[in-house]
Amino acid sequence: MLFFQSPIFINLSYIFASILFIFGLKMLSSPETAQRGNIISALGMLLAILVTLTQKNIISYEYLLIALVLGIAVGIMASSFVKMTSMPELVALFNGFGGMASLLVGVAEYINPSNVNLIQLIAISFTVLIGGITFSGSLLAFGKLSEIISGKPLILYGQKIILSVFIIIGISLALDLIINTGVTDAEKFGFLNLSGPTVLYILIAVTLILGILLTAPIGGADMPVVIALLNSYSGLAASSAGFVINNNVLIVAGALVGASGLILTNIMCKAMNRSLTNVLFGGFGSASGDSSKGGQIQGEVKPISAEDAYLILEAANSVLVVPGYGMAVSQAQHVVRELGELLEENGCEVKYAIHPVAGRMPGHMNVLLAEANVSYDLLAEPDDVNPLMDTTDVCIVIGANDVVNPDARENESSPIFGMPVIEVDRAKTVFVLKRSMAAGFAGIDNPLFLKENTRMLFGDAKESISTLVSEFKS
Ligand code: NDP
Repeated sequence: MLFFQSPIFINLSYIFASILFIFGLKMLSSPETAQRGNIISALGMLLAILVTLTQKNIISYEYLLIALVLGIAVGIMASSFVKMTSMPELVALFNGFGGMASLLVGVAEYINPSNVNLIQLIAISFTVLIGGITFSGSLLAFGKLSEIISGKPLILYGQKIILSVFIIIGISLALDLIINTGVTDAEKFGFLNLSGPTVLYILIAVTLILGILLTAPIGGADMPVVIALLNSYSGLAASSAGFVINNNVLIVAGALVGASGLILTNIMCKAMNRSLTNVLFGGFGSASGDSSKGGQIQGEVKPISAEDAYLILEAANSVLVVPGYGMAVSQAQHVVRELGELLEENGCEVKYAIHPVAGRMPGHMNVLLAEANVSYDLLAEPDDVNPLMDTTDVCIVIGANDVVNPDARENESSPIFGMPVIEVDRAKTVFVLKRSMAAGFAGIDNPLFLKENTRMLFGDAKESISTLVSEFKS
């Protein structure tokens, strides 16, 4: 046996790869180190793949090569051709593929003629269960994010009962697989008299239905939580697949993704001021509020031209920029940075308030502003800026909607009541940059647009900001 095929070399390399993952992950927590962190994690993954390829129990390199070429081609195409605004959907899709990959590992190991032990059987059942839920749940999340299907919660009549029945069936099938595999017909326990593979295939079908049943009722403003949770599931499935094939680095990498996803889920729940069970089983907006789309908010819309907005900004001492999904759509981040710099040159204090669920994926706004080289020191969280809001001269809301909706504080019947928002309506003047009076992702009206101190600067955000920049320059 060659040294690099020995268990000690392989396991030491896996430990080193895991250390690279952990350091890489840690470095992702700051924009300054994030790029290097990404490269370090990728190097860890390269090492893990190369070492795995040296193992002598690999049967065919041809299939691996085909899979590798296909994977690299899809990866390059996805990162080059997918628009920045479609990134959240792509991430949802990748989560789903992760779940499916783990599920297939479980299936392949189960139908492999070599014997599987009890630990592996438990791991296979868990991998298939979580992998299937992740796959179909992520596909549905992809559909909702890309607006192929409605982002509204889809709640069946008797949803909770149907869900409970499918959960019980899923767990029973998984237990059947664990208990009755490898025993004679006479020793089989339970009422099902099906062969192992048949139970496995039914379990797969049940998990796919479960993924849909769990994700369909979540919609509107609750989607960030489900995205983070599915991300965590894909990690748990991968970690469990590591137990199935006895691969230490897969166990560690999966556990890291699973744990980070759970932390993110917790952050998102806090950002929405909701418990996880409330998000999963509460059904967004099921207590019908009067601010649902087409509701009856009252007041007068006061449009403003970019030229008039410039005059107010020119006299402002403090400006708070609040970006949202519309900034990503119009790719306005670079002109936003330019406007910020011009305001600062004019003696104005400029800050950027980032809501944790703004945009369509966790950290969406941070990524865009970092891409435009907005200094990280200028970014603030809602809790930092809300106490200072009364003394802020101008808030520029750039394509944000749900995250600045005052109904979250003022209207108890609103589906987003209780969600902490950026309280821009308390500033002296608010400019809202958007193209129309349309609702945001949550599909609810926003009384901010009709407040006394709000001026609507209609149009594409990038064009509006570019006009403001030209005004400052001239
Ligand atoms: P919203 O979805 O509430 O609003 C975005 C606004 O941008 C729209 O009202 C739209 O209005 C405007 N807009 C779109 N295109 C342009 C453009 N070219 N120029 C100017 N404006 C534009 O975004 P928020 O960021 O405020 O809130 C995010 C929402 O998405 C929340 O409900 C959140 O829960 C949800 N979500 C977040 C995820 C996350 O992980 N962050 C994941 C999934 C969902 P108009 O059409 O009139 O221009």
